[in-house]
Amino acid sequence: MGPGPISAYPSVLRAMSAPLVGQYDPFMTATMAETQDLYRRVWATENDATLLIDGTSRAGIEAALVSLIRPGDRVLVPVFGRFGHLLAEIAERALAEVHTIEVPWGQVFPVSAIREAVARVRPHVLALVQGDTSTTMNQPLEEIGEICRAHGVLFYTDATASLGGNDFEMDAWGVDAATAGLQKCLGGPSGSAPITLSERAVEVIRSRARVEAGIREESDPDAADFVRSNYFDLGMILDYWGPRRLNHHTEATSMLYAARECARVLLNEGRAAVIARHRLHGEAMLAGVGGLGLGVFGDLAHKMHNVVAVEIPDGVPGEAVRSTLLADFGIEIGTSFGPLHGRVWRIGTMGYNARTDAVLQTLAALESVLRRFGASVPAGGGVAAAEDVYAATDAPGGD
Ligand SMILES: *Cc1c(COP(=O)(O)O)cnc(C)c1O
Repeated sequence: MGPGPISAYPSVLRAMSAPLVGQYDPFMTATMAETQDLYRRVWATENDATLLIDGTSRAGIEAALVSLIRPGDRVLVPVFGRFGHLLAEIAERALAEVHTIEVPWGQVFPVSAIREAVARVRPHVLALVQGDTSTTMNQPLEEIGEICRAHGVLFYTDATASLGGNDFEMDAWGVDAATAGLQKCLGGPSGSAPITLSERAVEVIRSRARVEAGIREESDPDAADFVRSNYFDLGMILDYWGPRRLNHHTEATSMLYAARECARVLLNEGRAAVIARHRLHGEAMLAGVGGLGLGVFGDLAHKMHNVVAVEIPDGVPGEAVRSTLLADFGIEIGTSFGPLHGRVWRIGTMGYNARTDAVLQTLAALESVLRRFGASVPAGGGVAAAEDVYAATDAPGGD
């Protein structure tokens, strides 16, 4: 029940045990094409360039940024948590001229602050996290695409923590590049990074010079530079996933099966229904920790549905509570980073763990462990408050 990785859906684990096939086996290429189609629906996009990067979510981030950024390009990164710093760091390694703006942890940016910074910095790329698990905040993105269009800026977002549990509209919001991972709301293991790219983003990638096997192919005489990574060169990866099927790496077969099954689980239940389920169980967990008398960190109006940062009460040993929950109840909750280190636990309700029984058992176990460490907590207060949330919803336990 941490902020990710989480327990995978059982059908995802089963899918990963399916037999392996060769990388040009018709079943393999058909599965790649089917997975691309499924993820177009997950992302809500018509983007032809919708595929998987082999590697964890960070591989998707790095592929997007190193392929979109030429050395010297200005990149604007609004930072509202740990993952904003990661985007800035990767952009710096891609030799961008990085500009950051910041809000304190626990807040998101007002649209006006991003509009002002885009107009002032005039970046080539705006790189913005959607949901930052380090703070639990969900940055509103609805109006950012329009601002980027007006200034000729490419809009990249890291939706790893939020996709599948919170609204996301690739095309309607005018996002040019977005990446994710499986181990949050999508309910799979880490190790595959779904990515989708607008035509504008693909044009930038295609305009860059190619270097392969020592032969330099200038697709555009003005190309400032080639991508300084082979593994994350999206131009080459697109040629592998596209009709030419030019060999690049060997697609990770079992991770492909996992990613496909994650998308199928989501789409069979329905995009809106899965988001509603995350909202419901997130609300129940939030009410439940409140019912135990615990405080919650951050601007709740902008909290992601799928994770809550719970303040550790004074005098309670945070790490001992976590390890006792794990040892005696088999329940893992998360610690935290940076300014929140030692101040909050992060409790997730995502993917397969966005379930009534998981929420109620976690609250009951937390109550018991808190009392063991000397905290005075209302008896049954967590479970009762969560049950009130479920009782107030038409479909008990969520649909
Ligand atoms: C969890 C998370 C990641 C994780 O990256 P990995 O490489 O899969 O560990 C990246 N970005 C955000 C916003 C996250 O919440």
